[in-house]
Amino acid sequence: MTKAISLLGSTGSIGRQTLEVCEEIGVKVEALTAKSSVDLLEKQVRRFRPRLAVLQELDAAMELQRRLSDVDVEVAYGLDGLLRAAALGSSDTVVTAVVGVAGLRPTLAAIEAGKRIALANKETLVCAGELVMIAARRYGAEIIPVDSEHSAIFQCLQGCRDYREVRRIILTCSGGPFFGLRREELANKTKTDALKHPNWTMGAKITVDCATLMNKGLEFIEAMHLFRMPPERVGVVIHRQSIVHSMVEYQDGAVLAQMGTPDMRLPIRYALTYPERAGTELPPLDLLSCPPLTFQEPDMEAFPCLRMAMECAQAGGTACAVLNGANEAAVGMFLREEIGFGQIPELVERALSQISVKYHPSLEDILEADRKARECVKRGLS
Ligand code: NAD
Ligand code: MG
Repeated sequence: MTKAISLLGSTGSIGRQTLEVCEEIGVKVEALTAKSSVDLLEKQVRRFRPRLAVLQELDAAMELQRRLSDVDVEVAYGLDGLLRAAALGSSDTVVTAVVGVAGLRPTLAAIEAGKRIALANKETLVCAGELVMIAARRYGAEIIPVDSEHSAIFQCLQGCRDYREVRRIILTCSGGPFFGLRREELANKTKTDALKHPNWTMGAKITVDCATLMNKGLEFIEAMHLFRMPPERVGVVIHRQSIVHSMVEYQDGAVLAQMGTPDMRLPIRYALTYPERAGTELPPLDLLSCPPLTFQEPDMEAFPCLRMAMECAQAGGTACAVLNGANEAAVGMFLREEIGFGQIPELVERALSQISVKYHPSLEDILEADRKARECVKRGLS
């Protein structure tokens, strides 16, 4: 079980819930990092007393340092600060709750320092899954998923000694706020519509990804890397109730499912207590009062992002980094209300058709693919 963590992205949805869990189960917090929220980071430092606090910009970090002059904490900034938090000697686990490809370098730094990774930041595995998994094996760093679907699969795989015994893994997908609509009905959906998720409260970027089903596409790629599965052995089913978090189908036909109330504190807690389980005050799942559990096929016509992600998973190389970079850029524009909902898949498709794939990429090739994808999306708008 984890004793002390560095928490990258502590002011976000996963970050705040991780701190709640740490308080509940008694895990120490050694480092906290955030992009720009000085107020919240100050409050978190006062409460959790880490050794190190990191913000992205120098000005914000100086402001934080000024406010915390009465507290024994080191304040750092930028990528250097983030990398230091990731490799901090006194933390045994690094929780990666940063959003986007910004999590890639710090995750690699944590792996190289031999930390256990509690991985929420799926974009890192999407862009550089092969590199990250090879590094994890080389440095003996365990990667424990926080994403609820992958935590479910990880739990259903406990006791499985040989992954060849697995026929396939089945990811469940809530379908998001626009389930059942046709592609032409989606085109003019607004930011407010997209930010209404039926079952989960999350950061803005992942909430939009849930509405386009890109989130499930990213999770499809994440699952392939985490569990060493080829794309044809990963399935996706729509399950509107978000009670079954995902399933593993074994060669003998047995299907194991992990269920629970949709609450991210459960997979966060498992990632921190693994291989143990700790008791909780959270209300248990009441099967008798839950709605009937249903399963349906996803609609790839209405939600082309899922299809594109599956195609990139097949293509390999830098294709997934292009997919992710283009999506991050397009979702950013949608959240700033510069483009409509229907343009997100169009801009991603454009980047995928214009940028050629490089196979067996280095870290530099991946970052270059990400940069080109973002540029292509920006140009697509002009
Ligand atoms: P969020 O937007 O609420 O929080 C993101 C955090 O990262 C914040 O602390 C922010 O300050 C920090 N951050 C953002 N950009 C940064 C940058 N460039 N450099 C350094 N720090 C930066 O996001 P979230 O919903 O908590 O999601 C975090 C990650 O977890 C994402 O990869 C998401 O896909 C994944 N995830 C989230 C949920 C959920 O329920 N929220 C579930 C599963 C997986
Ligand atoms: Mg998920």
